[in-house]
Amino acid sequence: MRWTHTFIPTLKESPADAEILSHKLLLRAGLIRKLTAGLYTFLPLGVRALHKVAQIVREEMDRAGALEVLMPALQPPDIWQQSGRYQSAADVLYKVRDRANKEWVLGPTHEEVITQLAATEISSYRQMPKNFYQIQVKFRDEIRPRFGLMRAKEFMMKDAYSFDVSDDAAQLSYQKMYDAYVRIFQRCGLKAVPVEADTGVIGGKFSHEFMVPAETGENEIACVASGGYAANLEKATSRGPLTPTPGVSTGHAPEKFPTPGVLTIAALAAPPHLVPPHRQLKTLVYLADSRPVLVLVRGDDQLNEPKLAAQLGTDQFRAAEPDEIAAALGAHPGSLGAVAATLKSPDLAVYADAALRGAAGMVTGANEDGFHLRHVDLGRDIRVTRWADLRTVRSGELDVATGQPLTLHRAIEVGHVFKLGTKYSEAMNATFLDEQGRAHPCVMGCYGIGVTRTVQAVIEQSNDRDGILWPKAVAPYTVCITPLNVDPDGPVMPLAETLYAQLQAAGVDVILDDRPERPGVKFKDSELVGFPLRVGLGEKSLARGEVELKPRRGSLVGVRIEEATARILSLLDSLP
Ligand code: ATP
Ligand code: MG
Repeated sequence: MRWTHTFIPTLKESPADAEILSHKLLLRAGLIRKLTAGLYTFLPLGVRALHKVAQIVREEMDRAGALEVLMPALQPPDIWQQSGRYQSAADVLYKVRDRANKEWVLGPTHEEVITQLAATEISSYRQMPKNFYQIQVKFRDEIRPRFGLMRAKEFMMKDAYSFDVSDDAAQLSYQKMYDAYVRIFQRCGLKAVPVEADTGVIGGKFSHEFMVPAETGENEIACVASGGYAANLEKATSRGPLTPTPGVSTGHAPEKFPTPGVLTIAALAAPPHLVPPHRQLKTLVYLADSRPVLVLVRGDDQLNEPKLAAQLGTDQFRAAEPDEIAAALGAHPGSLGAVAATLKSPDLAVYADAALRGAAGMVTGANEDGFHLRHVDLGRDIRVTRWADLRTVRSGELDVATGQPLTLHRAIEVGHVFKLGTKYSEAMNATFLDEQGRAHPCVMGCYGIGVTRTVQAVIEQSNDRDGILWPKAVAPYTVCITPLNVDPDGPVMPLAETLYAQLQAAGVDVILDDRPERPGVKFKDSELVGFPLRVGLGEKSLARGEVELKPRRGSLVGVRIEEATARILSLLDSLP
């Protein structure tokens, strides 16, 4: 490709609304342009990088035995009614109406469509295992589309869905996808860490997210240095808080004391009361399927809502509003307490975090505005319905298995593998007959990769102050030939043309910067776009019988003109 023929509108300055570096670089390097918030046009260079990522994904899916299909983005709402997600996913669904005023849904994902296909097409155990995938556009009504391609309203996803006869067989399909994902991100030049992920109300432990560590990531992960354990913070566990929970009873019965105006853990920790946070009980009220539930965690801990959701077994839950709390408990936030509340309402469910087991001599709200209780022993004074790990782990806590300290990092989720079980196949009647002619629901898995997000994650991970550092496998072009003088009758351009033709013939993705621009402009642009290798040709170097090879991540080397093509090819081999 000739630079003057293609379209690379590079920018000197970053547009003001681009918040993170990769978003700025996508715009500045002329890869994308914004239509409106959350919607982007891919320009020629952006399309090339996108297609390269998509092709790696496709090759690895094919290698893993998955079958490419293409499903409609426009979907009838009744399949969403059938799966139950017309309501539960309502907030992300874009809905449109046709000329007859009939409603349609723009697919945010395709479990419904593929399960409907399986329901009609798969009838026998002999047809499984099967894994179908597509690389296709998705629509999501995100609350906050931001960071360019990272969280868009419309984006490209690779989504795959496996169908198996049993849990064990489904586990094999899951493992194949997991392994394929490891290869995909490696081939894209991305350092992506598989982490254990929350499985929501479906439960089970088979869900992994592939996370690219980055300060700007919207997720937080906990891991140990050896790599033996890594989990999304929504799911991460530890051996517990570093300060042990007080476990010695004062021997006294709970005693009420006045705490006017004290409404927070911090306020009770301050003078005059001076109750350290780890001696306090934090009492929270949730509504699960509209019923109030009390949740207790240690005063210095944070409740982990996904962990609570998994225990409650419903995603129809939320924190209660102050008026709902007052109606249910007779007190306001800041003075709530399970001792009195459970005495008053014996049916009230109390979920307590496991770090509170054996807690004694604790302080909690008296469930009466302006008062707290001291000398509270959990085992004696509070009827706990269920003990569970409900807290968010903190940096430095020890990994359950290895005892190594956990560190927390921000990260970008680029992929997700999930063992679904029979949730959709049961809801949508995707059953098969086994060897004995008995009907069972297919056991499913689903596997997503954000293809457009992956392109941006590569940039977020690989850049320097001058621009992008594309890994070879996904660079829009691998080599940029930069003649410093483009006069067709001068000495430089004919040689540039020869190299260009030779590299093309050798199958290299090469771009010839044939613009009549100053060398400084050309160098800056090729660094901004980040081609892995630049080949510089100027009159001075030609006079020495040399061309100059400059890897984007390395230093300049002069090579003999006669050897140039061979040296370029061997240098390319060694580049990441
Ligand atoms: P997130 O938690 O970031 O909203 P998700 O868990 O809802 O993502 P999945 O349903 O697992 O996403 O989708 C599979 C992949 O699609 C994600 O791993 C991510 O890479 C990508 N993805 C999801 N939402 C978006 C979006 N709004 N814009 C771009 N890519 C997205
Ligand atoms: Mg996900």
